[in-house]
Amino acid sequence: MSTEQVFVIVGAGEAGGTAVQTLRAEGFDGRILLVGAEDHLPYERPALSKSYLAGGGYTSEGSLQDREWYDDHRIELRLGRRAVSVDRAAHTVVLDDGEPLDYDKLLIATGAEPRRLDVPGADLLGVYYLRTLEDSEALARRWASTPDVVVVGAGWIGLEVAAVARGRGCKVTVVEPNDVPLAASMGPRIGGFFADVHRKHGVEFRFGRGVSGFRGTDKVEAVLTDDGDEVPADVVVVGVGVVPDVGPLDPDLLADDGGARVDMRMRTDVPDVFAAGDIASVDNPLYGRRIRVEHWANALMDGQIAARSMLGRPSDFDPAPFFFTDQYDLGMEYAGWGDARAMGPPVIRGDLDAGEFHAFWLVEGVVVAGMHVNRWDDGIKPVQDLIHAQAPVDPDRLADTAVPLAEISVEASRAQR
Ligand SMILES: Cc1cc2nc3c(=O)[nH]c(=O)nc-3n(C[C@H](O)[C@H](O)[C@H](O)COP(=O)(O)OP(=O)(O)OC[C@H]3O[C@@H](n4cnc5c(N)ncnc54)[C@H](O)[C@@H]3O)c2cc1C
Repeated sequence: MSTEQVFVIVGAGEAGGTAVQTLRAEGFDGRILLVGAEDHLPYERPALSKSYLAGGGYTSEGSLQDREWYDDHRIELRLGRRAVSVDRAAHTVVLDDGEPLDYDKLLIATGAEPRRLDVPGADLLGVYYLRTLEDSEALARRWASTPDVVVVGAGWIGLEVAAVARGRGCKVTVVEPNDVPLAASMGPRIGGFFADVHRKHGVEFRFGRGVSGFRGTDKVEAVLTDDGDEVPADVVVVGVGVVPDVGPLDPDLLADDGGARVDMRMRTDVPDVFAAGDIASVDNPLYGRRIRVEHWANALMDGQIAARSMLGRPSDFDPAPFFFTDQYDLGMEYAGWGDARAMGPPVIRGDLDAGEFHAFWLVEGVVVAGMHVNRWDDGIKPVQDLIHAQAPVDPDRLADTAVPLAEISVEASRAQR
């Protein structure tokens, strides 16, 4: 009988792919099996709503590694296959075709899937969701004829799609139940800034209304809103959030937010079973609660931590999530976490009208989240430093562009000690 260790990774996405790379980089020389429901090698998703959707084409750079790398590093691929159950006692995970895979360590990195609208007409042709390469390819093909596009949901994906669609010359309307885009993460002021950016580029918003259905015979012709109105549409893109794809995880391993309950080393409650990426609900010491983060950088970090943890090696967990977006000529980076509506108005440093500023959200004088738009001189690093410092700062100095952010960070770090 072989004494070689077997590590099984379920989910060949950002976190799963990163974990595989890390295992080999850390010197693990046992067997690695990578199971992925999609037919693709692990690839990066952010471009799917940006350059790729804009017609930039998909290159091998979109993949974490090329096929040769997986061959060279003896990664046994099971692509186009889904894990359906785990027998914890037997240390076996079963695939959808019945194949059982014995494991010594198991990582679940099954990500998330778009939340679907359950309204009449939701299955009509022309109603799109965006998660996979195929979703993005299908949408990109539709831009060629400059259709009337309605985006449902003014979240990050919705706004990125709106920006690309305008760039391709489509008429774009965004339907959103809140009064501003990005209401929870950005609040009214910064959400309003994003609305203005899009309006300047010709996007029309219908705020304060939800979607009650879609009209059309074989394909979608209009979006019906819950105030009795309708918006003509050749193409509808629904971006109303995601739900965790729990894959083969049993319900007793799930947190209240629907993700897999893990600690900062990505360990579930069950020995030898780990979870990482969009699926992972981590007990976050900075915010004093479980947080499930649906961002690219988090999937990278989790994948690395999980891999090292599978090898019994600890890693540092950064409790301040990081996120970025690109829309038109606007680049934004955000760090931290919190409901901007509950935290009150942010401290603004810079010029909103010029589209170059930092914004900071404070709770009891301490920075808990912050972002910048096109401020690449300072960037996000001082924001992250201030969050990590967990010490009160003077909001007036924070707003004063004459006071270097680095200086305020150093002061806050000293105050923490
Ligand atoms: C269009 C788009 C744009 C984005 N843009 C940004 C951005 O600008 N900035 C940012 O920070 N983040 C962005 N994100 C989010 C980021 O891509 C995700 O947070 C990241 O992909 C999560 O990685 P993951 O490995 O957890 O999940 P995924 O990358 O989704 O990988 C999970 C994989 O597991 C597979 N799977 C599911 N169930 C099973 C099963 N039972 N068996 C086997 N395989 C299974 C899935 O098919 C999938 O391939 C974007 C996401 C999308 C969809």
